[in-house]
Amino acid sequence: MTAYDPDNIFAKILRGEIPSTRVYEDDETLAFMDIMPRADGHLLVIPKTPCRNLLDASPQQLTAVIGTAQKLAKAVVTAFDADGVTVQQFNEAAGGQEVFHLHFHILPRHDGVAVRAPGTMGDFELIAEHAEKIKAALA
Ligand code: 5GP
Repeated sequence: MTAYDPDNIFAKILRGEIPSTRVYEDDETLAFMDIMPRADGHLLVIPKTPCRNLLDASPQQLTAVIGTAQKLAKAVVTAFDADGVTVQQFNEAAGGQEVFHLHFHILPRHDGVAVRAPGTMGDFELIAEHAEKIKAALA
């Protein structure tokens, strides 16, 4: 498998080299809003240490990330009064992965409401509002 690229976009977000809308972090993980949300409240959970995806992650990285994913899944249900949550995780280009730092997508879902098509930039003010709702639900 290709080596981890320390200049991938999420590594730059972790180092604070490019902006992101953070909603939660602990010693091992970071959660921040997806810039092209496919549902209101769509966020990403990543480990703070490098790995490309599920295929090279350590058990410790996976344990930390799935624990934070559960915490954020519960928070988005509260924040958006959601009926359910979709959790997605892609591995390598053939598996649909575009950013090669392990991440789990967390999407709050409502009965009968489809996710939006990928690739459309979100409204930054709205994303910031949604982040505040999630942070309030975590508090
Ligand atoms: P995947 O690699 O799982 O296919 O998806 C990568 C995700 O990262 C996409 O949902 C995309 O919208 C998101 N993304 C790509 N670039 C950025 C960025 O610079 N900032 C944020 N917050 N999300 C990004």
